Amino acid sequence: MNFPSSTKYAIIGAGVHGLSTAYHLAEMLRASGRGSGADILVVDKTSIAGGASGIACGVVRNNYYQPAMRELMAHSVEVWESDPKAFSYHPVGYMQISPEVMHEQVGTIYEQQKAIGYESVFIEGAADCQKYMTGLFDDWQAKGITSVLHEKRGGYANNTASMYGLANKAEAEGVRILTGVEVKGFEFGSNSGAVTALITSRGNIACDHVIIGAGPWVSRFWNMLDLPKAISIKGRDGKIHDDVRMWTYWCLEEGTLGVDPEMHKTNDGRTPPVIHVDTDAPLYSDVDGSLITDKLWGLYYKPDFNFGGVQGGSSPYKVDQDPDQVAVDPYGPDSPDFIVGDDFIHVWCSMLAHCQKRFEGKISLYKHHEKSGGLGCFTPDNFPVFDVFRENVYMVADSNHGYKMIGVGKLVAQELMGEKSTLLEPFRFDRFAKGELHPVSNSPFPWS
Ligand SMILES: Cc1cc2nc3c(=O)[nH]c(=O)nc-3n(C[C@H](O)[C@H](O)[C@H](O)COP(=O)(O)OP(=O)(O)OC[C@H]3O[C@@H](n4cnc5c(N)ncnc54)[C@H](O)[C@@H]3O)c2cc1C
Repeated sequence: MNFPSSTKYAIIGAGVHGLSTAYHLAEMLRASGRGSGADILVVDKTSIAGGASGIACGVVRNNYYQPAMRELMAHSVEVWESDPKAFSYHPVGYMQISPEVMHEQVGTIYEQQKAIGYESVFIEGAADCQKYMTGLFDDWQAKGITSVLHEKRGGYANNTASMYGLANKAEAEGVRILTGVEVKGFEFGSNSGAVTALITSRGNIACDHVIIGAGPWVSRFWNMLDLPKAISIKGRDGKIHDDVRMWTYWCLEEGTLGVDPEMHKTNDGRTPPVIHVDTDAPLYSDVDGSLITDKLWGLYYKPDFNFGGVQGGSSPYKVDQDPDQVAVDPYGPDSPDFIVGDDFIHVWCSMLAHCQKRFEGKISLYKHHEKSGGLGCFTPDNFPVFDVFRENVYMVADSNHGYKMIGVGKLVAQELMGEKSTLLEPFRFDRFAKGELHPVSNSPFPWS
């Protein structure tokens, strides 16, 4: 096939957002009689799942303190549930296990989950939490826990397999996916700011609409579109804060304990829900008993045959650098800078041992040879920006919340078809100027 010189819809990035938008848009064009997948071209500089979507832990949950995020996630869970096989989705559920400082906020999440019909169970009080947890795992021993939110829906999906599932669906609708094509810039209209063509490593591609799902590379595209590197934000204090950096990088720390995934089952032999624990109980080293921290800490984990062990992570750290100077490439396991080191391994394995006796003394089984972790690019309030810039550029910037958000592409496709989405409305760029910021939780993670 020849290299295309034009397309109606040019989608940049073959990750979850680019592929989900492509697939859903193709379906909608066909169903409405207004076109087909042949009107859509996806380009990616590396491969399908070559970015964050291909290394994500794959956790799918609803547990968010922000009502708008929760409603959006409930929509995405429906999309995951629509074809678990193609999306390699495991609906094992998800548990948020928390200390007293988070009790009230998690209680609010539970109440609002009930209100939107998202099935979950809420346990309160240290004794009842311990009883509930030992009912699931007889070796449960995490301390400082006073609430447990058990989401019966959600779970996890296998990262690369799910992206190929989406790509297959898009291609079956006639979408063309071109890998090895790097977008280097844009051509703009002479009478408007709209993009008229992608400038790529293989030639220019004229287009009517651009959709950017560039994950950790979003700040690069922001610059290519001449959008502001710093913005003014009306804060929660009602004051205007000028010169706030638009993008900040965080490094996510994840890894795999190379045990048989079968060793992490519930008492009745089932695959357990994804476990997320936050606690302010002191954390001691599982190697030498020394104190690691007495501040709030958190981890998540699940048995995973894809990763070949018990896989998960802990809180990310902020990359304290000008975003333009952060070395995003080479990405993920190929990065010399943003992969986990011995510190993470020691801390995360000690966290696992703090939670369940079965993980005590297992640090030597950690999969050192498999590099893991990677960068995420975050907005000023750490929540997504889904909005149109320069008249025809739809930016799907998920602020690293995104693998689970497989439904966002469906909503973006609806908007491209001309139907505004109330679920996406709270994520417009002008919320910063208007001071319509999302509430902040007490969790130690920037994405809760
Ligand atoms: C270690 C880690 C674990 C995570 N775990 C989870 C999780 O458990 N659950 C969850 O919900 N989220 C998780 N996330 C976040 C999630 O992975 C991302 O938010 C989401 O995958 C972003 O999807 P995307 O489609 O925007 O971008 P990506 O999947 O990163 O895709 C962007 C694509 O754009 C391409 N690209 C970049 N620049 C160019 C260019 N110039 N020209 C052409 N193509 C280009 C890249 O090659 C890449 O394939 C995790 C992130 C990381 C880093």
